[in-house]
Amino acid sequence: MTNQYHFDGQTAIVTGGCNGIGRATAIMLAEAGAHVFVGDMKHLEENKETFSRLGIVEVMCDVRQESQVQALIEQVVDQYGRINILVNNAGIGLVKQIHQVTEAEWDACIDTNLKGTFLGCKHAIKYMLTTGGGSIVNTASNAGLLPRAHDPVYSISKHAVVALTESLGLCHGKDNIRINCVCPGPVSETGMMNDDLDNAADPDVLTQSMIGASPIAAANKRMIRPEEVASAICYLASKDALMVSGSALRIDGGKSLGVLPQGK
Ligand code: NAD
Repeated sequence: MTNQYHFDGQTAIVTGGCNGIGRATAIMLAEAGAHVFVGDMKHLEENKETFSRLGIVEVMCDVRQESQVQALIEQVVDQYGRINILVNNAGIGLVKQIHQVTEAEWDACIDTNLKGTFLGCKHAIKYMLTTGGGSIVNTASNAGLLPRAHDPVYSISKHAVVALTESLGLCHGKDNIRINCVCPGPVSETGMMNDDLDNAADPDVLTQSMIGASPIAAANKRMIRPEEVASAICYLASKDALMVSGSALRIDGGKSLGVLPQGK
């Protein structure tokens, strides 16, 4: 995929940037000239060469912990005096029916997906208010646009991320701070998808059913790729999207548009 973006000299933070969609986004932003900081709970040795070549700085950060999110953002501000772009991308899944969900699992899912996004917005906006604006992109999900029967708590967390995006977009337009989110459908080559496939009775059947549920994925016989979501995040972060705020951009091959024709 060609990198059409220009972020020369801008600072960007990507949470959950060590794997999947976040890693593809961090790389795309850095290749387009941004100073990129990745905040993640895990370190993946396989990123070492690429991150070091692109100057991507890895910071250990659990987005559920306010002190760690604050420290990540302050590290960037201390070094560069500003934070231009924040991608709140860290997230986890939870495939369980509600009566089987423990309090700890509820907390982990809601705290990672929703509280982590709140904390990132809170601390980035504090600085963006003093430097004339900025852009925040949250990774929501297809599950934030329509409830899903197999993972209701995950759906709840992502609906809330869409609501947070709209609310904060409304509040901070006057401050030249744009807040948008992406709503991907099933994305291949991600830790989340690999976990789902590892836990499936038949990974091939699950793969085909996910592809089949999205008309454009089905037409192309493949899932969405991390770089395709990264490109949408870069668009929303860029000046090309200067007049776009509070939007929830579906990147799901039409999956969430409605009920497909019967028999398809
Ligand atoms: P992934 O597992 O490859 O990446 C998630 C990253 O987040 C990992 O590097 C992980 O270490 C990190 N992370 C998890 N909890 C964290 C925490 N508390 N603090 C900091 N980092 C943490 O999966 P992915 O699919 O690339 O997920 C990225 C985002 O995309 C998530 O928000 C997910 O909900 C969303 N999403 C994924 C899909 C999909 O099909 N893979 C579809 C729609 C939305």
